[in-house]
Amino acid sequence: MQKTTPNNTQDTTVYIGLGSNLGNRGAYINKALVLLGESPGVKITAVSSIMETQPMGGPENQADYFNGVVEITCSLSAINLLFLLQSIENRLDRVRHEHWGARTIDLDLLLFGAEILKINDPNLVVPHPLMHKRLFTMVPMVEIAPKVIHPELNQTMTEIHDQLLAETQKAESL
Ligand code: ATP
Ligand code: CA
Ligand code: CA
Repeated sequence: MQKTTPNNTQDTTVYIGLGSNLGNRGAYINKALVLLGESPGVKITAVSSIMETQPMGGPENQADYFNGVVEITCSLSAINLLFLLQSIENRLDRVRHEHWGARTIDLDLLLFGAEILKINDPNLVVPHPLMHKRLFTMVPMVEIAPKVIHPELNQTMTEIHDQLLAETQKAESL
């Protein structure tokens, strides 16, 4: 017997980081999720809790962030998904002034299936090069994707999170 394969088995499971520290942070994150969910080729499959975090890096005296992650299945290429994320950021009043400066919405492509990509133009690095060093990314990742494997580190989100937490606690106790 021949089996037919539904189209959507080709979809990629993707994780996107959500951040906001300017204006109505919760509303910007919600609007980003609505625009993402309405986009052709995208289906939202899980959303983490949104947590409030202190800014890391960037200019002094920035407001605290709201951070979370969303899981989607997606039929777009990684590049086209990056363009979609940037167009949603632009629609939601994102203005780029200084590196790591305050922003209404930041949508980072964290994982694109198990792919490892380093593309220059447009600039796209996947897995996101800092995801495993950021508790504001790893805490929500563990909530919705604890067993997913980071394709470069070959560790689960839980393992990476636990290591990062231990390192952070050690650094804080010094
Ligand atoms: P960080 O990437 O350290 O979280 P940021 O989110 O503040 O910093 P942005 O100003 O939003 O950085 O983006 C800078 C550039 O990063 C974008 O123009 C984009 O081309 C590039 N980029 C490279 N890899 C990724 C990725 N995985 N997700 C989103 N943007 C990426
Ligand atoms: Ca970011
Ligand atoms: Ca970004």
